[in-house]
Amino acid sequence: MEILRHRPVPASAVFFGITRRCPLHCKHCSTSSMLDSEEYPEEMFRRFATTFTTGNRPEFVLMSGGEALLRPRLVKDVADISRAVGARSHILSGLYFAAKDKNYATTGRIPRSLRPAIDAVDHFSASLDFFHEEEVPRKAVFRVLRELLEEGKHVSLQLTGTGPDDPYLEGLTAEVRREFDDRVPMLVAPVSPHGRADAWLLKQVQLPRTTVDPAPCSVSAWPVIGFNGQVTACGNQDVMDGKVPLPPHLYLGHINKDDWSVIRERSLNNPMVRAIRATGPEYLAERYGSGKPGCAAGGYCETCWVLSKDEAVPRAVRAAADRESVRLVEKRTEELLVEAGPLTFAKQYGITRYAELVTLGDTSARSLV
Ligand code: SF4
Repeated sequence: MEILRHRPVPASAVFFGITRRCPLHCKHCSTSSMLDSEEYPEEMFRRFATTFTTGNRPEFVLMSGGEALLRPRLVKDVADISRAVGARSHILSGLYFAAKDKNYATTGRIPRSLRPAIDAVDHFSASLDFFHEEEVPRKAVFRVLRELLEEGKHVSLQLTGTGPDDPYLEGLTAEVRREFDDRVPMLVAPVSPHGRADAWLLKQVQLPRTTVDPAPCSVSAWPVIGFNGQVTACGNQDVMDGKVPLPPHLYLGHINKDDWSVIRERSLNNPMVRAIRATGPEYLAERYGSGKPGCAAGGYCETCWVLSKDEAVPRAVRAAADRESVRLVEKRTEELLVEAGPLTFAKQYGITRYAELVTLGDTSARSLV
């Protein structure tokens, strides 16, 4: 809930793509991760974390992969460095160490080699869904969560399914609530058509379509560090994978040469990123586009990818960027999104029917529902 509460606030968090490697083979993996996938030097990520300061740091440092726990030393270091300046850390894991073929099944304990990393982060989140269960049994996931809960760790689950009527989700969410007596929050989202899932999901699911009304993109609020150190304004997997050429307006820098203060400044002040955050890409294309054939694209993110190709759009956005009225609209949009609260984000980007499950385990928040 705390993390989602900050979702619309620019640069209040940063994502670290710790590694693309993962020993699991989930059919829906959005990053198409494998054990021999790409991995870049640990030092690059560590150095960037050391550029956070008490006066200029993100509120949250979010680590994922691939499987971030394949690099436990790096996870611990980034968490420790972040805590030293007042930032809190979060990790998302697929719990590969609890997979069917691992000795976790017999020992029933989290491997000692991973303990320092897990102990160092402030919040531990596990992925669980139909495809994960083919690799890591549900019972093993529950055992890991219980072990951590009993130690007083903050834990949550990130679940995916095909939609509100998915019977698998209905059964799983009910079982989690029963098993943990509502102490484990769940963020439930639809399977995204990226990575290995794009081979089959696009054929089944119709992607949401927005209108040309302003539709702010909160996802562009937090910088995302890719596996190779490149920093973009959003983590759209097609862009990260290079399936779509990186739109120049989403590029924020590279952690090999840019410090947090530089990345933050670009995230806050890049005119195109600001405009996308405030109104969404389709509104910008409609309002400022030249209307030339080839400049229009179907879909919300698809429109974003080609926005800079129509020179009229960045030109008009740059011209408007310093107007007081534009700054006011951006500020008010951010305020309204923050006021709308975390549930709005969970509904918008997750499955509405299950949005309130993010409030579990947080009694002060539940009274707000
Ligand atoms: S609209 Fe652009 S910035 Fe927002 S999620 Fe889509 S690609 Fe990313």
